[in-house]
Amino acid sequence: MSRGFCLAIHGGAGTIPAAALNTAAAETYHVALRTALKAGWTVLNRGGAAVDAVCAAIVELENDELFNAARGAVFTSAGQLEMDAAIMNGADRAAGALAGICGPKNPIVAARAVMQKSGTVFMIGAGAEAFLQTQDIQFMPPDYFTTPRRLDALHRELTRRVAGMPDTRSDADRHGTVGAVARDAAGNLAAGTSTGGITAKRPGRVGDTPVIGAGTFADNATCAVSTTGTGEVFIRFTAAAEIAARIRYAGQTLEQAASDVIAELSTHGGDGGLIAIGVTGAPVLPFNSSGMYRGFSGVDGVLHTAIHREAFRQLCQ
Ligand code: ASP
Repeated sequence: MSRGFCLAIHGGAGTIPAAALNTAAAETYHVALRTALKAGWTVLNRGGAAVDAVCAAIVELENDELFNAARGAVFTSAGQLEMDAAIMNGADRAAGALAGICGPKNPIVAARAVMQKSGTVFMIGAGAEAFLQTQDIQFMPPDYFTTPRRLDALHRELTRRVAGMPDTRSDADRHGTVGAVARDAAGNLAAGTSTGGITAKRPGRVGDTPVIGAGTFADNATCAVSTTGTGEVFIRFTAAAEIAARIRYAGQTLEQAASDVIAELSTHGGDGGLIAIGVTGAPVLPFNSSGMYRGFSGVDGVLHTAIHREAFRQLCQ
């Protein structure tokens, strides 16, 4: 997989603990990851653009309520849904981002509309919604995004806060995100990320996901990156752009830069991981959390998926 097109995805660092994930449940996640990989791979295999592959993969993850993005997103402490998403094209460093939205069925598609049609990079609130209403974007009512699992996690967290008990939540109850990075046959890179954020987050809080250079970044000269984890730390350390900077200015390899940044984030309370792809070579998928739903596929079409620290499962299409 040293040359040619390639794609990596993640379904977030908010994994169910290995001990609590039975074989059938694990298989459900592997199937969902493969579905997303296949969608992105199909675009790349027919010569499509990295940005379209990223979008196609993320749409599948957003549509699946297993993951904390769009359908299945987590709630704010006020019981609202506030979603963040961003996409970036490494060919021209065009980018589109949205924060705190609820309505578009696929926030990543909405972010792409911001990138391609708005003349701006980052939109929020009523203005964003008004713009998106003028675009060919499918909207859904809040019920569509609402799932019992996320409501239950919210109620347990609010009850814990009232009781003043320590926070012993699993990663799965706390957070999650979805993302994709791709390199197409023409050598263009792209990255996209979409999330509901952190369970019971403060209304108005925005994480790293839509912040270009923190949770999402792509530049054909260096790499494309999508992150997941403690958003505040990823923002403060400009995690994604830091990886590109280390490649560009310090001559680090993608692998070295990505793992050094994850190690640095760990020392500052940053829990999570990322996926990144470079100008050549295979993607890297480092994390410091207990797991990260993830996968990758290249020209050979083999779908590699993993959840915790086990070996990747491989499936030939
Ligand atoms: N990074 C996301 C946020 O802070 C959450 C996550 O990826 O788990 O909103």
